[in-house]
Amino acid sequence: MANILFLGTCSGTEPIEGMHHSSMVIEINGLYYWFDAGENCSRTASEMGVNLLKVKSIFISHTHMDHVGGLGNLLWNIRKLTRLGKGLPPENKIPVFIPNMDSWNGIMSVLKNSEGNFVCDFEVVAEQPSDAMIYEDENIKVYGVHNGHLPVTAYGEYLSYSYIIEAEGKKIVYSGDLGSLSDLEEIVKDGCDILICETGHHKVDDVCCFSERKQIPILLFTHNGREIINDRQNAEKRLLESHCQAHICYDRMIFDISKNCIAESRE
Ligand SMILES: [Zn+2]
Repeated sequence: MANILFLGTCSGTEPIEGMHHSSMVIEINGLYYWFDAGENCSRTASEMGVNLLKVKSIFISHTHMDHVGGLGNLLWNIRKLTRLGKGLPPENKIPVFIPNMDSWNGIMSVLKNSEGNFVCDFEVVAEQPSDAMIYEDENIKVYGVHNGHLPVTAYGEYLSYSYIIEAEGKKIVYSGDLGSLSDLEEIVKDGCDILICETGHHKVDDVCCFSERKQIPILLFTHNGREIINDRQNAEKRLLESHCQAHICYDRMIFDISKNCIAESRE
């Protein structure tokens, strides 16, 4: 069984009712792979039945607030559960892939100044992603591909990544935030089965055209921007004209990767 749980589907807006900033988890065989960690993500996940002690790894696309606002709280909640004797994360270790180590050190500083000096019975290991396979276990392979959402640093470091995920025999691309749609040309040059694309910086029609040209069968919109927030009905109408199976994701939506359809939500 493999699902994508959308915890937050909003781009970096002011608070909007019913939507939280971007975060999703891939659930495979009772384990969880976390992609971006916008505000409130661990609480939403918990309310959706996710056992936070089964988080296997965390992948951050870039360290803007709408992608990391809930990261400190996620780690804090995991530690809290371990302290209450509820268990420990798999292999007593959580790898966190995060492009900007300054931001990471800031988050760790907040955690260390919180209760217990963030002394944990498990390891949290932070690492910068790269343009390579960065993670592999029995369920999933994850590849980093840098994109142009943020400029490269003076030290040649890329600060913004998309992720290619291989799971359940499928290739899933998570765009993160893009510089422009042309970034996707490189990222999906060999095609993919599911494209999870941000629309905070792009028009729905343009993403649909791109996906049709690349013959991508399933298109999921997240990190939804003003075009969708302001007139969701109109955006959905236009998706009906697309040749892809296209959905505008919403908070707490569950997409069944095995069956290629939206699953019943479990609130
Ligand atoms: Zn964003």
